[in-house]
Amino acid sequence: MTYTLHAAHLYGDLMNTYGDIGNILAMRYYAQAVDADITVDLVSLDDPFDAEKYDFALFGGGQDYEQTIVSKDLQTKKDALTAYIEAGGPLLAICGGFQMLGHYYIGAHGEKIAGIGALDHYTLSQDNNRFIGNITIENAETHQTYYGFENHNGMTFLGEGERPLGKVLQGNGNNGKDHSEGVIYKNTFGSYFHGPILARNEALAKRILKLALQRKYPNGHFDVLDQLNEDLTKNVVVKP
Ligand code: GLN
Repeated sequence: MTYTLHAAHLYGDLMNTYGDIGNILAMRYYAQAVDADITVDLVSLDDPFDAEKYDFALFGGGQDYEQTIVSKDLQTKKDALTAYIEAGGPLLAICGGFQMLGHYYIGAHGEKIAGIGALDHYTLSQDNNRFIGNITIENAETHQTYYGFENHNGMTFLGEGERPLGKVLQGNGNNGKDHSEGVIYKNTFGSYFHGPILARNEALAKRILKLALQRKYPNGHFDVLDQLNEDLTKNVVVKP
């Protein structure tokens, strides 16, 4: 292999709802086109997160119970993760993982679950309701359309320096009110999309993969990724 990326799967044993690891598998699939491989370390409870070692990090979704366990341990990784994000380390956080990068998440029973405030959002709970269903968004910079499935109690409100991953065309998104879905902050991407998002959305998978490759190998040749058109999942718009 010409190129190797090291990925951290944060709390992959606790927060991997809907097989969010599929995001790394999708990146690894596209990586073959440029002769790149991706190794994966599970970084879970009591494991240090080494901000220097990793070229990509995935933080998947989970249920409130697992999030409560992760919340305590996550505080020990707060400084390293914040440093990684601030330095432009590529990170994808899904649903519960997205919530935990912000200030806090109020769980379905009203309990306050602390995040690390690496990003400036916060998440409230809904009374006896969840946002469940197909979701479609459009990304403002690329005008690309992304498809996924959402299932969350939390309502997230973005803060300082955060822009949405996309504008909601169908579904609820971050909070069902302001038409925002997910987040982009530096090279950190957050989303409520399961599916997993990168397996269903080739353009986004290649965008994040390219970011990670170019950051590690500034003189590398990755343009062939732009010519690929695998269309692995024929995304059809499904009625809610
Ligand atoms: N427990 C969180 C919520 O319900 C996150 C769910 C998830 O990650 N799918 O909002």
